[in-house]
Amino acid sequence: MMHLAKAYAARNSQSKLKPFVIKRREVGAYDVLIEIRYCGICHSDIHQARNEWGMSRYPMVPGHEIAGIVTKVGVKVRKFRIGDRVGVGCLVNSCRKCPECKKGFEQFCSTPIWTYGALEKGSKTPTYGGYSQRVVVDQNFVLRIPNNLPLDRAAPLLCAGITTYSPLRHWKAEKGKKVAVLGLGGLGHMAVKLARALGADVSVLSRSNQKKRDAKRLGAHHYYAMANSKNFDKLAKHFDLILNTVSVDLDWGKYLGLLKRDGSMVLLGVPEKSPAIHAFNLIGGRRHLTGSLIGGIRETQEMLNFCGRHKIACDIEKIPIQKVNQAYERIIKGDVRYRFVIDLASLR
Ligand code: NAP
Ligand code: ZN
Ligand code: ZN
Repeated sequence: MMHLAKAYAARNSQSKLKPFVIKRREVGAYDVLIEIRYCGICHSDIHQARNEWGMSRYPMVPGHEIAGIVTKVGVKVRKFRIGDRVGVGCLVNSCRKCPECKKGFEQFCSTPIWTYGALEKGSKTPTYGGYSQRVVVDQNFVLRIPNNLPLDRAAPLLCAGITTYSPLRHWKAEKGKKVAVLGLGGLGHMAVKLARALGADVSVLSRSNQKKRDAKRLGAHHYYAMANSKNFDKLAKHFDLILNTVSVDLDWGKYLGLLKRDGSMVLLGVPEKSPAIHAFNLIGGRRHLTGSLIGGIRETQEMLNFCGRHKIACDIEKIPIQKVNQAYERIIKGDVRYRFVIDLASLR
């Protein structure tokens, strides 16, 4: 039996998101049917709805920060039961055979199936994301949300959480390390909470002073408004690690100067265009410029469990889906504290 689901979709790169009905596949032997309660709005949803990366497929139902309840399971499903609190992030499948998949790096598989804007294996039907009532996902790509985390505040962990947790772990944000979070938005605010919980000394590099109080409340030890150019001198050769979450062009070279010898700047944000970097920015100080992409399924579960243990969830503004286009405009202006989460009850 196919499942119809109400959704919101972009019909092309210029259009606003509007009501749309999608079909979800039958629940196969290894599938889980999830009634979606909440879905976070990631800046990537906007990039993709507007085709800013040049690879969008329409109609597009965005949304890869999904939290909901299992309402049906396939006959072979052993990992989940009806009533379980679960999440789905950016991936709903991968080849499962390549070296990356075997090591738990499904995000680096050469044939990942993204939660939206991709084609399913076999059937080649388009995948549609979480701005919808329900979704059918293979059990191996479904995550368990710890019982002590509210579903609405946990939803953005499925992208913003794992995207910041993974590089913080990989580049060893820990006691004795100075970590800077560049841009205090959806990703940035999670980076602050997680880096703090991992024991690092945490600084926020924001444009203005507007978010200073919030940053301290989120757990940052220090805060710098980078519109004040003196801060570039003050912080020269200061950080071990910079997580760059900014989604617009930026003078990365200037920020590389804030790294200590052997320090790393990790690109997380994906601007449309990127400025060139002078070799001296890297050579002088043996600095690293690198990037990171979400996280694999195993690490995503590890992150959720970590958040459960440390009682970490996202700071959200809950909206009905009818306000999604306004939310997009506010995100672009930087007017979000710190993640919009759609309450899918508004779709009924
Ligand atoms: P967001 O909530 O919009 O946050 C981005 C932050 O960038 C803003 O809050 C703002 O912080 C800062 N910023 C600096 N200059 C800006 C400007 N001119 N206009 C607007 N903001 C500016 O976005 P997000 O959801 O955290 O996503 C950030 C980026 O990461 C996006 O490009 C997204 O596509 C990408 N992303 C990557 C991955 C990955 O796996 N690598 C995963 C998810 C998202 P201040 O106000 O503090 O300056
Ligand atoms: Zn995302
Ligand atoms: Zn693979």
